[in-house]
Formats: sequence, C-alpha cells, structure tokens
Amino acid sequence: MSKNSFFAEVNKMFDRAALHTNHSQGLLSQIKECNSVYHMSFPLVRDNGEIEVIHAYRAEHSQHMQPTKGGIRYALSVNADEVMALAALMSYKCAIVDVPYGGAKGGICIDRRNYSQSELERITRRYTFELAKKNFIGPGVDVPAPDYGTTSAEMSWIYDTYRSITDNPLDALACVTGKPVGDGGVRGRTEATGRGVFFGIREACNIEADMHALGLNRGIEGKRVIVQGLGNVGYHTALYLEQAGAVIVGIAEYDGGIYNANGLSLEKVVNHRKETQSILDFPGSTNIQNSFLTLEMDCDILVPAALENQIHSENVSRIQAKIVAEAANGPITSAADQALIKQGVMVIPDVYLNAGGVTVSYFEWLRNLSHVRHGRISRRREAHNALKILETVEDLVDKKFDPIKLADIDSGRGFGASEAELVESGLEDTMVGAYHEIHAHASSHKVDLRTGAFISAINKIAQGYSRGGIFP
Ligand code: NAD
Repeated sequence: MSKNSFFAEVNKMFDRAALHTNHSQGLLSQIKECNSVYHMSFPLVRDNGEIEVIHAYRAEHSQHMQPTKGGIRYALSVNADEVMALAALMSYKCAIVDVPYGGAKGGICIDRRNYSQSELERITRRYTFELAKKNFIGPGVDVPAPDYGTTSAEMSWIYDTYRSITDNPLDALACVTGKPVGDGGVRGRTEATGRGVFFGIREACNIEADMHALGLNRGIEGKRVIVQGLGNVGYHTALYLEQAGAVIVGIAEYDGGIYNANGLSLEKVVNHRKETQSILDFPGSTNIQNSFLTLEMDCDILVPAALENQIHSENVSRIQAKIVAEAANGPITSAADQALIKQGVMVIPDVYLNAGGVTVSYFEWLRNLSHVRHGRISRRREAHNALKILETVEDLVDKKFDPIKLADIDSGRGFGASEAELVESGLEDTMVGAYHEIHAHASSHKVDLRTGAFISAINKIAQGYSRGGIFP
C-alpha cells in the first residue's frame, strides 16, 4: 500500500488513538486490517450497442459484528484503497454510535453523469448479482446503502435484484437500506446524514467553553457557514443550519463556488441551479473560480460535504474557518488535520459526524426484519394512556377539558409518535449521546475530537472481539 493511500491515512489516525488504549498489538492489528476486498469487472452493453468494461469493488473491513454495513458510491475515484479506507471508517463509525455492524463499503468506478438511466439500472443490477454470487450481500451478511453518486433509486434496484435470486425472500427487504419509503424504506433516511451533521455541529456549538476558546459565541445563531458539495448531505446540512439561524455565506460545487458575506438563500440557490444547471452566477453573489478556493473564504464553520482529500498540506494554512465539520468522509488528510489542530481549529470528525445515515439505516433494517412500521403497535396505546391521565387531572381539578380535543386524542390523531418522529428522536439521541462520549474521551486524554472518537471506537470494537469475534 503506498504511503499516501487513503487507507494508510485512516490507519495513521487509528495509531494515534491506539496509543491511549491498553489493547495488545495483535488485537489492534486485527482491528485495523481490512478483512476482505472483492474487485470485479463485468461488461456493460451501452445504449449504442458498444461494450464497456465496468470496474467495481466491495470491501468488508471487520466482522466483529454482523452484518457488515456501508454505502455504495459511483465515482471515478473509486478503487480498492478507497473502499478499504471507507469500510474501515464505517467500522469505527458504527462503534462510536453503538450501531451493531461491522464496516463495509462498495463502489463502481463511473461518473454517473455519463450514463443513461437504463444503463445505470443495468450496471446496478449486474453489480448486485456479482455481489450475491460471492456472498457479499444479504440481510445478515453485508447490507449496502446510498453514498456519493447513488440515491434511493439504486437501492430499489439492488433490493429487487437480490429478492429475485435469494432463497430467503421473506427478509430480502433488509439486504439494503436507503430504499424509497414505498419500497420498504424508513421515513427520514434521505435527510438523515445531513440531519445528524446538524445535530453534531449544534452540540459542539452549545459548549460555551469550547466556543469561547475559538473566539465564538455559544449556539448556531448567526454563525457564517460555507458548504462544499450541494448533494444529499451538503444540502440537508445547509438546510438545517439555515433553519437554526446560521448564515450560509458560501457554497462550492464541482464547477466552482459562490460567496456572499451577507448570506445566500439556500432555496433560491437550489432553484437557480434547477434553472441553469449550475450554482454559478447566482444573483448578488461572487463566483469563485473553483471548489478549493471556496474552502479558503472567510467563515466560522466550514462543511466539506463532497469527497476526500479536499484540505491538504498545500491549502491548510489558508483555511479561515474556526470549525471544520467533516460531513464528507476523509475530506482532510492526516497531515492537514495535525496542521489544523496547531492553527487552533476545531475539527468535528467524519467518523462521528456523518454517522446519522448509518444510524437511520439501522432503524430501516430493524423495520424490514420485524416487518412492522415503527410505532404501529404502540401509537394508539400512547393516545389512550394520555387520555386516562387527562381524565385523572379533570377529576383532580374538578374541571372538564374541551371534549372535541379529547376525542381527537382518543382517535390517535396528533398523538402518539409517528415513524418519522421516532426516527428523528432516535437519531438526535444517538448523535447527542455520541458527541458527549467522544468529547469526554478527548478531554480526559487531552487530545482532539478525532482521536477521542477513535479511542471510543477502538475500545468498543476490542470489546466486540472479546465476546468471541476473533473466533466466530
Ligand atoms: P451526493 O452525490 O448526493 O452529493 C455530492 C455533491 O458533491 C454533488 O452535488 C456533486 O456535484 C458535488 N461535488 C462533486 N465534486 C465536487 C467538488 N470537487 N467540489 C464541490 N462539490 C463537488 O453525495 P452525498 O451522499 O451527499 O455524499 C457526500 C459525502 O458524504 C461523501 O463523502 C459520502 O461518503 C459522505 N456520506 C454520505 C452519506 C449518505 O447517507 N449519503 C452518509 C455518510 C457519509
């Protein structure tokens, strides 16, 4: 493996944290290793009849918990090293947020913009078939999800292909997450990663002492934000930050960036992109020549939400943000990460911050295996309980509540948590709890948040192995 490989970068972060643990060298090596990598190639007959060879991968990093879990990306950057690194990050991420999976990642080496819808469908179905042939997919084996360049549509094709070839169709829905709601998906999965990124940033900004050290006020309100990558994760992160009172001053896309120190309206930028196919030339903003230069503009919070290696040794000294919130996986090289710490910048690490996606994927997988919508069994019971409490209060205060409102509660309308509310609540609880856990590790070992997060992950995975994971 070359020195600059992404997998080696992740391992450097692991090694830094491992110094603060007491596990044997052998166990640490096993935790770090990527257990299996499958590289496949297959022919695609293009719409014009020509044949093209497609290269694709799936890496399963760790089976200390099963199934393994991780997204599938469609990008030209995809190679064995990248999927191994991203699979490793998934193992650590799942441990940090207590989601009971090992880590995996897959990818197909294509730029989806160069393929028609039916070509994408053929590629996705063939990829699924190849995974199934080698036992790299299944509800209890390895469960993919969306990532860069893929959406719920690809997840539907994966499910449909798997269902048609498995001998266990009953649980087939649980072979992939991030499906559309009508196809076994769970409400809230599409926005989950961005929602989780928001919760993580909010927790960080709510700690007065940490904000004071950065020269910032407590809270999200008024913080100036730049987002790189206005895709699923970047868009939803920007949306929730804007709703909480942050000011989006810059947005970067693959063809350049836009900046307005007084703020950009996210909705208007999205509409502008729909009309012109680009965010550039947005009225009232300045065009920035490229995505990298946008990262260097003045702001409080920088949110890289596109691809890896965006902040590296050459541009790190020009980063002006006080907080870098890693919504993407691996956007900062390990050398740049060390430089940012020296520059006094707070980095909220990917391995924690973008875990909202896999957390809600876990809720979807549970729903698929239990064959029942979250809240379906208990919702009406909650309404009846609320009514009983109100009747007791009526007796106590010797007053009657509005009978129409009581009838409404009795009917279950507007009472008892819906699936969307349960998912939101589980996601918030997970992201808030995990933030304080990694913050506590960072404080007690006097290290940065990323090292704190890796310490948490290593200890939990080591525990997983001690329960028999080494000799399954
Ligand atoms: P996406 O495909 O929905 O969006 C990516 C966006 O980035 C696109 O709009 C694309 O045009 C833009 N982009 C591409 N190159 C760029 C560049 N050089 N500069 C600026 N923008 C660029 O992908 P996504 O699902 O939002 O994933 C983004 C990142 O978040 C990835 O690192 C992914 O691994 C990570 N992530 C995604 C999820 C998820 O649930 N989707 C979960 C965890 C982590």
